[in-house]
Amino acid sequence: MSDIVPYEQRIGALTVHDVRAQVNLIQQVMHEVMQKDQHYGVIPGTGNKPSLLKAGAEKLCLTFRLDPQYEVEQERDGSHLTVTSKCTLWHIPSGQRFGSGMGSCSTHESKYAYRQGSRKCPNCGSEAIIKGRDEYGGGWICFAKKGGCGAKFLEKDEAITSQSTSRVPNEDLADQYNTVLKMANKRSLVAAVLNATAASDIFTQDIEDMVEVQAEPQVTPKEKPAKNPEAADPLRTISRDAELETLCKQAGISPKFYLNRAKVDTASAMSDEDYTECLAAVRRKIKTKQEIAQELAQGAP
Ligand SMILES: [Zn+2]
Repeated sequence: MSDIVPYEQRIGALTVHDVRAQVNLIQQVMHEVMQKDQHYGVIPGTGNKPSLLKAGAEKLCLTFRLDPQYEVEQERDGSHLTVTSKCTLWHIPSGQRFGSGMGSCSTHESKYAYRQGSRKCPNCGSEAIIKGRDEYGGGWICFAKKGGCGAKFLEKDEAITSQSTSRVPNEDLADQYNTVLKMANKRSLVAAVLNATAASDIFTQDIEDMVEVQAEPQVTPKEKPAKNPEAADPLRTISRDAELETLCKQAGISPKFYLNRAKVDTASAMSDEDYTECLAAVRRKIKTKQEIAQELAQGAP
């Protein structure tokens, strides 16, 4: 099993036995080495195939002794950046090309193109309005630490509540360039590994996320950005948001943190890619919390 010969080196087709051996190896790696939420993610309602995450793709590269090399093309459009990445996998022992995959990422994607809008203070004009904590009387506060004037407003003050917090165009696109580059490489790596190994029998790429990339045109600021098409499915909407809520409760954190990070209002509006990563992060938090609790319990008399 240890010396897998790339298909270019073989004369004729792979035998059924070869194919089965490779699938078996990937399955073995998945069950014995990979961890859910770290190497692969499972999204409820998207079929049975788990999504291969970056760390999982790297594990498979290690297994098959593949060295990923990237060719990157960057295209600027005003302050927007689109990165197209081609990942070629080289078989280290033989130096032969094993396979390749393409991936792209762009600041035109809604999670980079927009940021969550925040409410403006009617008093000083700063975007520093936050919800006042209940123990301090609730309402709204123009938060001094966010550059606000400290003014307080009643819970039902329409000057505040009438303001929308929907997404606004992100002025600092350059801040996202590095992320966009990394994301393009991540997508091409996963695509290459799925192409080159038999891993696509077992794992899926985030198809929906890729569709979203291609389908999303330059959205003019007044238009509502195209939402995740699957968000229209009410069952899924309920299950995703409920699931995130439940898990976050266990982890002792607010779902808002992840929603803000993905720049969406609901978990159902997240791309599958973001959602997989978000679930993985929350589950890791729960695990850490349980481990700490366990340690404390063991340390207690
Ligand atoms: Zn103010």
